[in-house]
Amino acid sequence: MFKIKGLLNRVYAARLPSIEDLEQILSLQKDEEIEELFAFADKVRKDFCGDGIILRGIIEFSNFCFRECSYCGLNKGNHKLERYRMDKGELFKAIEYLASFNIKTVVLQSGEDERLDVLWLTDVIKGIKSRFDMAVTLSVGERSADDYRLWRQSGADRYLLKIESSDAALYASMHPKMDFGKRLDRLGILRKLGYQIGSGNIIGLPGQTLKTIARDIIFFKRGDFDMIGIGPFIPHQYSRFAGLKEGDARISLKALALTRIVTKDAHIPATTALGNLDKDYRRDGLKCGANVLMLNFTPQPYRRLYEIYPHKEAVNEPADFCNSYIDNIAKDLGRFIDYSKADSLKGTDLRLAQETSLVGG
Ligand code: SAM
Repeated sequence: MFKIKGLLNRVYAARLPSIEDLEQILSLQKDEEIEELFAFADKVRKDFCGDGIILRGIIEFSNFCFRECSYCGLNKGNHKLERYRMDKGELFKAIEYLASFNIKTVVLQSGEDERLDVLWLTDVIKGIKSRFDMAVTLSVGERSADDYRLWRQSGADRYLLKIESSDAALYASMHPKMDFGKRLDRLGILRKLGYQIGSGNIIGLPGQTLKTIARDIIFFKRGDFDMIGIGPFIPHQYSRFAGLKEGDARISLKALALTRIVTKDAHIPATTALGNLDKDYRRDGLKCGANVLMLNFTPQPYRRLYEIYPHKEAVNEPADFCNSYIDNIAKDLGRFIDYSKADSLKGTDLRLAQETSLVGG
């Protein structure tokens, strides 16, 4: 034990760690060193976020998408995929079901649906806010500043817009007709409007290296994001990246742990994609820095059709099954389920966790 303690402490204490240090940690191979990394990240999670496992409920309300992202099964060129758009009645039924589990955040996600009417979503947000005590997170891609403003004014609290890769060339290679600079602009607009914002990346993309991942972590630190989602790449047969190797679970977990150590108080989920590999790694994610679980409340048959990647059983579990699953996980890990809205920890008292507790300790 304690073989890499100095390195971990240096990264933890740095205002901005060096790429070389991050790369060195990401390249650790020995089990005992990786365990040390995970234990360190778990301690940072405990110090800055506490022992609560925060629950979010996601509803994927449309799988229409006009984008051509090389990794994603929703890409516009996938004509095999049956497309759907939930109506308000179906959506509110799903939200009521989610509320019945006492979950206080709904994540409304869709592909980049050109027909998503700004006023339709405005009405949905207002409806949720008037009927439920619930935070609303949006994840509907790049929209105009006016749309973002209207949704924020209607009560939307948070916005997820992952950078996927912070390397401009890598980003361009897998996002035809998209613009890296524009993505950054959208994030700036969302922040100015007062949204809590989420970023994140995909691990295992073709052309990605440990150095690129290290740079992603620096990007997360610099961006001071409220939420960061790190998940492995899972190939989809009707995407440009069909047949490629899926992202490595261990590298994904190392990146998650390191992101926790560097960013300290961001909300970091054990992503759904982590539950979709050869086994379910979400529990491992919760043990090395993650403090959030996302439960899927998209009703069937739509859930099956929101196929960003092929689903394994764990992702297709009904929400009530997930509920007993998470109760067991919490008990096992000596943690508890946090049924609050769990807003961003940025700028709150919880942030005053002893900055030095791990340094030299
Ligand atoms: N359209 C919105 C956007 O672009 O932000 C949200 C929907 S998008 C389908 C949600 C997330 O799915 C993306 O941010 C991406 O990280 C993830 N994703 C898509 N395809 C994936 C794949 N094959 N493997 C892992 N993650 C994937």
